[in-house]
Amino acid sequence: MSTRPIYLDCHATTPLDDRVLAAMLPYFTEHFGNPASITHAYGWEAEAAVKKSRQTIADAIHGTPEEIVFTSGATEANNLAIKGVAEAYFSKGRHIITLETEHNAVLDPCKYLESLGFEVTYLPVRRDGLIDLSQLEKTFRPDTILVSVMAANNEIGVIQPLAEIGALCRHHESLFHTDAAQAIGKIPLDVESMQIDIMSLTAHKVYGPKGIGALYVRRRHPRVKIAPQLHGGGQERGMRSGTLYTPQIVGFATAVELGLAEMPSETKRLRQLRQRLWQHLSELEGIYLNGHPETRLPGNLNVSVAGVDGSALLLGLQPTVAVSSGAACTSTKIAPSHAILALGRDEKLAFASLRFGIGRFNTKDQIDRVAQQAIGTIQSLRQAQTM
Ligand SMILES: *Cc1c(COP(=O)(O)O)cnc(C)c1O
Repeated sequence: MSTRPIYLDCHATTPLDDRVLAAMLPYFTEHFGNPASITHAYGWEAEAAVKKSRQTIADAIHGTPEEIVFTSGATEANNLAIKGVAEAYFSKGRHIITLETEHNAVLDPCKYLESLGFEVTYLPVRRDGLIDLSQLEKTFRPDTILVSVMAANNEIGVIQPLAEIGALCRHHESLFHTDAAQAIGKIPLDVESMQIDIMSLTAHKVYGPKGIGALYVRRRHPRVKIAPQLHGGGQERGMRSGTLYTPQIVGFATAVELGLAEMPSETKRLRQLRQRLWQHLSELEGIYLNGHPETRLPGNLNVSVAGVDGSALLLGLQPTVAVSSGAACTSTKIAPSHAILALGRDEKLAFASLRFGIGRFNTKDQIDRVAQQAIGTIQSLRQAQTM
């Protein structure tokens, strides 16, 4: 075990917290019932656990339990939000606004809708990765039905000004959806003060299990309509059919609860580790921070390294540290990250970038070892180039 690389890829997924696993286990075994079974105790037990979990998740974002629709994760939640709104509101308008730096689980449903005749504006971001609010303001049209802007970016970690975006959307009578996959349990989220109408969540980025997430769908002021994308048993008030996955739901709620409870201390600790890593790395020449230095997730550091080949850099680090790079593998080819290109970096710097996702189980000692290895690898790659 000690030879495994240090895990610093917490934006891809996080390890399951033992406390989450412990909460889930009884729902795999003795409490196996279907929460929709209303005729016996097996169903009631499962339903009680789902009800409690739904309340926990709703409370965490200042919503109500009736506004939580469980899904298989944020990809499904984003698809349900974007396609579901498009289908329910197309007679009102066919224009959607989103960001160039969104996750593919937002961009691809938008592209799909374009093929059906919707119009999508992909807003560029500022050089620090944040949305340009005055540009957003100018982009609204009378037929803009939806604005989808992520809460926190999965690559560069920048946190978008949700309350300001929410206020603009309310003013222009467009619905506001946010992909909060990276944000839940890490930064405060409040659907009321931020005027969020629809929000995608997932458990596995916050030390919960994979395969579970939720869509928050506002029920009052305004009452948001979402056309279901999965039809069947009519679960989740008809918005998402399918038997509820009780152990995953319990794990999701436990993970969110822990994230919230530990947020004040973890935010401080992770920010210190992030600063420590950046202090080490910035001893090098030609290393650039991607994204706003402060308005970002506490555990995120994303850097571009000049004068090295991106894949050689990753290869050199692989035995020591599990990180991700600015090269996004699609099914057919390796392309530089669209999020880092959107900051105005050239292709080479976009390729030669490293995304560090520091999390709950990382230590100061690990950060020091990773920094040492990264500095050594970068120096030797640069030397090899000049020889
Ligand atoms: C991980 C992630 C997703 C996908 O979530 P899944 O639950 O894995 O489907 C969507 N958006 C963002 C910003 C993410 O980080």
